[in-house]
Amino acid sequence: MDIQPSKLEITAEGRLRIVWSDGQVREYSVGELRDACPCATCREKRSAPPPPSTALPILSAAEAAPLRIAAMNPVGRYAYGIEFSDGHDTGIFTLDSLREMGEEVAPARKE
Ligand SMILES: [Zn+2]
Repeated sequence: MDIQPSKLEITAEGRLRIVWSDGQVREYSVGELRDACPCATCREKRSAPPPPSTALPILSAAEAAPLRIAAMNPVGRYAYGIEFSDGHDTGIFTLDSLREMGEEVAPARKE
């Protein structure tokens, strides 16, 4: 795939916005990306049975704080490693998967 992100930014609402080289603009909520994290640990967690309903989840301070993207690092020319503010940084998101996630938004008007 030759389509590459030409611009990565965090919106005022804390969402990730990617401007792609073909002009498409997509926005992603950080929670959506975190939930779709493709690393082995998260995939295992998602396939595990849900905890019994009597168990109240206990959130650590880092988990209770609003999740942010701490860093995005290109991995070759085909993927990005996303580092979340909760310290999780093992997810490698391929450009193909990023094109399928999020929602398309209208491109910013050229001035
Ligand atoms: Zn993960």
